[in-house]
Amino acid sequence: MEFVYQLINFLLLAALIWIFARKMIVSIFANRSERINTALDEAERIEQSDMQLPQIPDAFKEEVSPTILEEAHEIRRLAEAEKENIRQQTEREMYGMRREMLTGVKDVFIHKMITRVTELIQTEPYASQLRAKEAEFAEMIMERMEVTPGDMAYLRRSDVLYITLTSAYPLAQEIVDEIGRRATEMLEQIGGKPSYWVKVDPDLIGGLRFRVGDTVYDCTVADRLYLLRHELEKREIHGDEDAEQIVADLLHGIMTMKHGVNEFQLGRVISVSDGICWLDGLADIMYGEVVEFECGERGMVLDIEPDRIGCVIYGKYEHIESGSRVRRVGRIASVPCGDALLGRVVNPIGQALDGKGRIWTKERRPIECKAPSIPDRSAVFRPMHTGIKAIDALVPIGRGQRELIIGDRQTGKTSIAIDAIINQKGKNTVCLYVAIGQKDTTIVDIREKLAKHGAMEYTTIVCAPASSSASFQYIAPFAGAAMAEYFMYAGRDVLIVYDDLSKHAVAYRELSLLLHRPSGREAYPGDVFYLHARLLERAAQLSAENGGGSITALPIIETQAGDISAYIPTNVISITDGQIFLDADLFNEGQRPAVNVGLSVSRVGSAAQTKLMKQVSSRLRMELAQYRELAGFTQFGSDVDAATKRILDAGERMMSALRQNRYEPLPDWKQVLLIYAVAEGYAAHISPAELDRFAEELYVYFETAQPDTVEMLRRGQKMSDQDKACLNAALSAFGASMGEVS
Ligand code: ATP
Ligand code: MG
Repeated sequence: MEFVYQLINFLLLAALIWIFARKMIVSIFANRSERINTALDEAERIEQSDMQLPQIPDAFKEEVSPTILEEAHEIRRLAEAEKENIRQQTEREMYGMRREMLTGVKDVFIHKMITRVTELIQTEPYASQLRAKEAEFAEMIMERMEVTPGDMAYLRRSDVLYITLTSAYPLAQEIVDEIGRRATEMLEQIGGKPSYWVKVDPDLIGGLRFRVGDTVYDCTVADRLYLLRHELEKREIHGDEDAEQIVADLLHGIMTMKHGVNEFQLGRVISVSDGICWLDGLADIMYGEVVEFECGERGMVLDIEPDRIGCVIYGKYEHIESGSRVRRVGRIASVPCGDALLGRVVNPIGQALDGKGRIWTKERRPIECKAPSIPDRSAVFRPMHTGIKAIDALVPIGRGQRELIIGDRQTGKTSIAIDAIINQKGKNTVCLYVAIGQKDTTIVDIREKLAKHGAMEYTTIVCAPASSSASFQYIAPFAGAAMAEYFMYAGRDVLIVYDDLSKHAVAYRELSLLLHRPSGREAYPGDVFYLHARLLERAAQLSAENGGGSITALPIIETQAGDISAYIPTNVISITDGQIFLDADLFNEGQRPAVNVGLSVSRVGSAAQTKLMKQVSSRLRMELAQYRELAGFTQFGSDVDAATKRILDAGERMMSALRQNRYEPLPDWKQVLLIYAVAEGYAAHISPAELDRFAEELYVYFETAQPDTVEMLRRGQKMSDQDKACLNAALSAFGASMGEVS
């Protein structure tokens, strides 16, 4: 009975306290939230005003509790960070605007210069001076004249070779006859006949142009101006130069014919459609050479047939007409290379896309290049840490290796690659992210994330988004590889990500079908295997005699419904040295990164791990595979024996330990420590959901209380029995300290 009275008393007391104290508590919280709101409003006002952040007044400090003061400090810190952000962004925008303005100024300036020179040269005394030089020009041309292999091939199929003499003004008959006689002689020597045409074309402005077959010997003012335009475009121009002086220099250059005869080859456009064009002429052009169309666009030769040449157009093709001229530039398609590319976003031909102005580099490298030969390489022997536990422990990647990241859409493929790039910070590694067929927004997001984590400093993004032409998407990975090779041959380590090669194969299929190549399996062209093989073969670990540089390649492939035996996935799997398979089911279960341990493999394996990691993780793979299998069996049944339950619990705990958020790469020693602790049962009393906290406390404890053990783990050497005993003791001590806290 007494107990009942006590209970009633207690309840009455509790009710009274609740009624009166609630008011107090509510008022305290209201007060607090009001103060926080005031502080937030203040911070907002500060941001919007002139960004001067006032100090927190002393009176305020005394009046409020330390927690509110702390919050106010935090808000102030955030506002300061935001202020800095805005400042940097404004600076970047200003820089971009300045560069854009300068480019605009430059275009206008060049146009003005060229127009002025054109006007001047058509007036006296220049016009008559040029005419007086016509005989001299003819002599210069005749010295250079020769028959090319292309002309000979043409002569074999046809009786005559067309030769044309064009001049700005009607020429003296002696000059015409002399050139005709010399050309006929030259052709007769190889058993051919000329078909000689003489034309007048005022568009040439001055001088003469002689064409034998495809080859043009040019001594005209129009050509000089064309070259001068290119020269001026390469120069830094700010708009405040001495225009009169530049005009005088240009005139002088033209009148003295400083450059002599310009020799190049001209072909003709037969037809153009869907970014592809067919050319006539240019018989001895090479695969991969660059050609320039009359409108200034450029393209690259991708197909050589007996009577026509197929080429892809880099940019817009609306202005290219059939019948128009196309000029051989005289070099293989190449991209600029060098440190100037770091931190930049470029298109596959090396032009800046980030509004930070033109990229000035001394060197260029051809986009197609032979991979290093076997004697030039050495075996993969250094690890390339991604900072992701599930990968560094189970599918380790070595420098110089090619590891495929494969999985369905939205399973975290890109995230793994980006984390690997972020983890290279401070490791003297250059990174390249090649985006093929990605959405523009995705690429912008990636760039921002990389910049935020300080990774843009050593990274270049080569960008061929879904909106770009198939030819750009086709070239992008080769361009990226060329940029990477520059660093590798300079003895540096490079990490290159191709995101993703499925879209690359699709772009290549599009080009091939447009080029009328027969389609093969799944409509891909027959050489799609060769396409990816020659790309990925360029990743290598060079031997010490060759500088010891390396390119590690992480190609990405998207599968459909987990089908890794489709055509393109099997191709790339067989080319690479292993794959990280991301499982959509695991991803949906919340396991991130969703690495499927059973289907992932790294064929370089042990060489790419530190001895310590190898020692710690050697049994892990087996155990996890066993766990997955058992988990599959037991998911419908409830009663399992004790041994099975133990395996299931340990497996589940290990899977939880391998979970990791994005952008949080973990140093090697922390990975080893956590995996060891979980595998050896030091976390047996921790529920999988609490493992994150356990891990955090573990790292903090070791950093503060066990510096010697951390040092031992950092060295990465195999643990002796004594080391193991030390580590076990330290872990036990940690367990005890946790027990005390809880
Ligand atoms: P796509 O096929 O579209 O290219 P993807 O396979 O490259 O996709 P991601 O874009 O990397 O996948 O990631 C897909 C989603 O999964 C993203 O929203 C990302 O936030 C999430 N995600 C990926 N990895 C993790 C992780 N470790 N932790 C939490 N979320 C993750
Ligand atoms: Mg992706």
